[in-house]
Amino acid sequence: MAVTRRQLLKMTGIGSAGVAATSFGALGFDLAFAEDRAAKYKLEGVTATPSICPYCAVGCGTLVQTRDDGKGRQIINIEGNPDSPISTGSLCPKGAATFQLAMNPKRLQQVQRRAPGSDKWETMSLDAAMARVTELVATSRDATFVERTADGKLINQTTGIFALGGATNDNEENYLIAKVMRMMGVVRIENQARI
Ligand code: SF4
Repeated sequence: MAVTRRQLLKMTGIGSAGVAATSFGALGFDLAFAEDRAAKYKLEGVTATPSICPYCAVGCGTLVQTRDDGKGRQIINIEGNPDSPISTGSLCPKGAATFQLAMNPKRLQQVQRRAPGSDKWETMSLDAAMARVTELVATSRDATFVERTADGKLINQTTGIFALGGATNDNEENYLIAKVMRMMGVVRIENQARI
């Protein structure tokens, strides 16, 4: 059966999947079978873990689908959670693209540091970066910590450190950030998702 390009586009562009499948059937393809197999393989052996979209304060529910491919558990898909009372399975375009946040070859894998006055980024080891952050936090806290107000009221706080979480911090990370900051007496704690 000879099919022109225009005919092919017309046949595959018809709105309903059923009609499209029938059209492909005329060409010798079984699209319904292929769709069925694709859906099966996509979700085969998958564990779906409920989570929350990290991008904004709406807090839409997601299902993070992971599979162990023998080299560790990998995220293979993230989609709306129909059981979420907040979003009932819906995600906005940003939330629907959450998958690329975790699985992205462009994602930086090493700490980048731009020294004061420098015009370029340099790779830094994670250990060195953590040591530097620890040093700066300790120095700032020691220099600004106030145990009591002038009239003797116990406050144990520092206003010399401000904690600003990123919108992609998840619930658990935010919980730990708040715990650690309050433990150190930091009272200015905020998250980008609330700003
Ligand atoms: S899916 Fe969109 S609206 Fe929902 S939490 Fe994420 S960014 Fe916000």
